[in-house]
Parts: sequence; C-alpha cells; structure tokens
Amino acid sequence: MASLEIKLWELGDFTPGTKSAQGRCAWGGDSCKEKPEFTVTDRAGSNMGACEKHVVTYIRDRLKNGPFG
Ligand SMILES: [Zn+2]
Repeated sequence: MASLEIKLWELGDFTPGTKSAQGRCAWGGDSCKEKPEFTVTDRAGSNMGACEKHVVTYIRDRLKNGPFG
C-alpha cells in the first residue's frame, strides 16, 4: 500500500507562471502538451499538474518507490 497525494486540478494549487498554472501537465515533463486533470504533490512538496496519462506514472512511482523515493 502507498499513500498518494492526488486531488482534482485547481488553478489555486499552483504558483502563477508555472506550467501547471498555465493548464498544462507538468508531471509528464516538457514534452507533454495535455491538460492536467489532477494535482499531485512531489517529494519536495511542490504541486504539479498531471494529465490522465501521466497521473499513472505518479501512482506507479509511489507504489514502486514509496513516499521517500
Ligand atoms: Zn501529461
């Protein structure tokens, strides 16, 4: 079991000017142009937008590596 930090994407989750705040997936890196459906929190405590495809990579990472990487 892993603890996941996921919520539905909201503009207020992000620092203005970031890729996530611009309504684009940041979890998938620079190459992803999709709209984020979710907000996930990385291990440094930063919120990142994640599209429906890349939210799976977040879940997979947490299940494999746990909350501390
Ligand atoms: Zn993505």
